[in-house]
Amino acid sequence: MRVTILREKRKTIVLSLIDENSALLKVPKHLSDNKISEFLESKKRWLENKAQKINQDKEFSKAFDIKNCFYLFGKQEGKFEDLILGFNSMSEKEKGLHIRKYYLSHFSNLEDIVLKLSEKTGLVFEKIKSTAAKTIWGSYSSDRIMKLNWKLLLLPKELVNYVVIHELCHSKHMNHKPQFWRDVAKFCPDFKLKRKQLNQYGFLLKACF
Ligand SMILES: [Zn+2]
Repeated sequence: MRVTILREKRKTIVLSLIDENSALLKVPKHLSDNKISEFLESKKRWLENKAQKINQDKEFSKAFDIKNCFYLFGKQEGKFEDLILGFNSMSEKEKGLHIRKYYLSHFSNLEDIVLKLSEKTGLVFEKIKSTAAKTIWGSYSSDRIMKLNWKLLLLPKELVNYVVIHELCHSKHMNHKPQFWRDVAKFCPDFKLKRKQLNQYGFLLKACF
């Protein structure tokens, strides 16, 4: 692991991982080399774990060819070159636009899941909207509008179900307090596992289409 040390006018030490091979350490200007080594030694395990996680996520994301293939609920359904006219001769930007449009034309698949789960759980919503947020899969506002990231379309259905149940439970609790999670568990007993699995798909949220 390569650690770049940046001495600057500051009071605290901040360590951040840039990628699986490099980290950045910001330290106060006059901190001794000994103290820096000590600090890095104490964070060695943390850095290794973080780097390992990045590697695992990279391996996981490699299994998906999201720029060329269309996935619906975890299954590869076809190649964009066969689904979108003239796809191969488009610029990267155009490709992205068309991919997004193609997925959005399947958004009703997500709406169907919400309707079904709302009926099953008795939890309500007013309206569903699509979002392309870079950090979240869904949200639920006090006016009962559920926003769902269209990239959920790429995820296995059981993970989509978890996200939808999560958002529907916000119709009763506008927070993540224990009572909220007790309600989530009623309809999705293994929600902790689902949350972990969902984390692995974080690369999709960040991916540009
Ligand atoms: Zn929530």
